[in-house]
Amino acid sequence: AKKHGKDKFEMFEPAMRVAFQATIDMESDLRRAVVRHEFELRYQPIVRLSSGEITGVEALIRWLHPERGIVPPVEFIPLAEETGLIVPIGEWVLREATRQVAEWNTRRAGRPLTVSVNISAVQLEHTVLPDVVRSALDAAGLPADRLTLELTESLLVDHRPETLQRLHDIKALGVRLAIDDFGTGYSSLAYLRQFPVDIIKIDKSFVDDVVDEPTAAALTHGIIQLGRALQLSTIAEGIEHAGQLTSLAGGNCELGQGYYFAEPLTESAFDDLLFPAHSP
Ligand code: C2E
Ligand code: CA
Ligand code: CA
Ligand code: CA
Repeated sequence: AKKHGKDKFEMFEPAMRVAFQATIDMESDLRRAVVRHEFELRYQPIVRLSSGEITGVEALIRWLHPERGIVPPVEFIPLAEETGLIVPIGEWVLREATRQVAEWNTRRAGRPLTVSVNISAVQLEHTVLPDVVRSALDAAGLPADRLTLELTESLLVDHRPETLQRLHDIKALGVRLAIDDFGTGYSSLAYLRQFPVDIIKIDKSFVDDVVDEPTAAALTHGIIQLGRALQLSTIAEGIEHAGQLTSLAGGNCELGQGYYFAEPLTESAFDDLLFPAHSP
């Protein structure tokens, strides 16, 4: 094997070599995308279930690849995390989402919208995240309590004291924290005790079955009551039809989002939704 050491690729099967090369191509594409700003945000409304009022939006990233078209986040966020590129990408998302929602809020009557931004574990490892968040809020002119950072349970598996301290530093800015995909991890309940969260996002997998499966319904309604007892807001994800809405609203779930209300919208489509009279 040593004899062939200089030609390591000989040890790979052709299919592996192709996959390996594809990853390298994608990584250099992604580096270019960061430099050239090939990203866009989509905005999905978050709705008060009792009234249908839009109370906020979740910002969801898309990569506008020059050859491949629109690339969804599942296809590049993992690579962005491995390469550390999620740090500049995530900073851009924070700046862009807060800027956009602050702009909507200045044009809109009524209670200002909140904006939810997904944060990766890799971003949280960087001590500068509290500074990045503060700087984005200042630049946008958005009050801190209008920003929610969504963290996944996998992120919170990391129990290092620095991580907890960083979350407290971010909370001290006045920003709200949500646990995303709640109920899918191994220790959702433990996190509620350890981390300073304000909002539980009930995972879509519960919402999917809330009408047809008594177990899913019981768990969903149990999570809502748990949230209530802890004075947390609950947001149900992935509401696709009226039956789910009825079940969730009947169980006093406060907020929800999903294709039933709207899919993630481009900036201009969301603009038309907020300001119907202004659209052509
Ligand atoms: P997530 O945070 O759980 O976001 C919800 C996903 O469900 C989004 O997919 C959204 O488009 C989709 N969705 C919303 N309503 C429905 C529905 O009624 N039915 C169905 N089938 N799907 C629905 P998307 O936009 O492809 O994002 C996937 C994941 O990528 C997100 O899951 C989040 O974990 C990650 N992601 C998205 N944007 C960012 C970002 O800016 N930064 C980071 N770090 N991760 C992001
Ligand atoms: Ca999310
Ligand atoms: Ca989620
Ligand atoms: Ca998810």
